[in-house]
Amino acid sequence: MMTPGTIYGIGRNYAEHAAELGNPVSEEPLVFLKSPASLRPVSHGPLAFSHEEFHHEVELVVMLGRDLELGHQGSWHDVEALTLGLDLTRRGVQQELKKKGHPWTLAKSFAGSAVVGPFMARTDVLSVDNIHFSLDVNDEPRQQGETRDMLFPVPMLITYLASFNLLRRGDLIFTGTPKGVGPMRKGDRFTMTSPELKLNITGVL
Ligand code: ZN
Repeated sequence: MMTPGTIYGIGRNYAEHAAELGNPVSEEPLVFLKSPASLRPVSHGPLAFSHEEFHHEVELVVMLGRDLELGHQGSWHDVEALTLGLDLTRRGVQQELKKKGHPWTLAKSFAGSAVVGPFMARTDVLSVDNIHFSLDVNDEPRQQGETRDMLFPVPMLITYLASFNLLRRGDLIFTGTPKGVGPMRKGDRFTMTSPELKLNITGVL
């Protein structure tokens, strides 16, 4: 896997997830960053997390295949590869920071917080029109989603990000999580599945 560039995260991209955390849906995508050092391929095995509880957010993750100029109009052709990932979140820290009006950075960006499965080439994916995906934790179903429920589909996210940033080949976008976020702890087993991506990824936190 190539060295990651910038890791963009999208918040509140599924209406039912925004509602479960008591957040309004946005008129524009809500964007945050995770540092490249937070990336953790599932195949690298468990990290030494503390006793702390994390929230899982299973998400479609796309990797850009080209450098994009400011003002670029996004399309699926900009995406080289796709996978599923976990946008691990320190929800308690995030709620505290939100209350104070501070940036969320440390709730979202920390060692191992950007969990990714193996990337599938976009050209090997039969259809990107509606990608179904799900997360089980310790064999219990937790989250299920499909990308047609996104408030801002992938090409629109790329257009939006490219209106502010020079996007680079290798940049990742965590495209937002469907409803059903919940707690996860060190040692929990998880499975992320998507039929369209032909992925069935198992790992341990
Ligand atoms: Zn997320």
